[in-house]
Amino acid sequence: MIHIILFGPPGCGKGTQAKIISNRFGFIHLSTGMIFRDHIKKKTSLGKLANCYINKGILVPDGITTNMLNMEIQKHFKAKGIIYDGYPRTKNQIYSLEKVLKKFCLGKIDIIFYFFIQKNLIINRLLKRGKISHRNDDTDIITVQRRIKEYHKKTSLIWENYKWKNSIIKLNASLSVETISIFIEKKILNLLY
Ligand code: ADP
Repeated sequence: MIHIILFGPPGCGKGTQAKIISNRFGFIHLSTGMIFRDHIKKKTSLGKLANCYINKGILVPDGITTNMLNMEIQKHFKAKGIIYDGYPRTKNQIYSLEKVLKKFCLGKIDIIFYFFIQKNLIINRLLKRGKISHRNDDTDIITVQRRIKEYHKKTSLIWENYKWKNSIIKLNASLSVETISIFIEKKILNLLY
């Protein structure tokens, strides 16, 4: 089973690419943000808890997030591959992912696509998305800015350990959706064949 991580700040296009790539290759798309929003919609206890953090634009604590993600992975033991969108976001989440993959002999983290983009572009994209999706955390500029700050403070440097050096592929997230998806597809094909 192959494991592909889409990494980058909020609004960089991870979700869009994850959908395209998972369809193209028949991989499972795991988005922690989407799973949280599903819980919020269904008013589960996890949803109520996560909502307190998400509405403020801060990360949901690791324990809650990793438990949820580990349970999700266990539903997909037979998958060809998994695309992770919005996970891991902390070093603890990386350790936890490595641990669960090892425990169930599911392979390892194969590629980390690292999306780079200017801050003003992502703010515009998020506010625009907020108007269409009505996501609370996308409509308010203060929350949007807090999420970007949270990304720089807690997330942006999590892959700095040298062991990930050869697994990281950088990409320019201000290019078109199509250009980026073709780029990602080629890299995945190289990995598969
Ligand atoms: P975006 O990448 O645009 O911020 P997401 O849907 O990935 O959107 O995340 C929305 C919110 O869900 C985050 O701001 C955070 O509060 C929470 N969240 C999602 N993934 C994680 C994670 N891996 N760890 C902690 N919190 C998370």
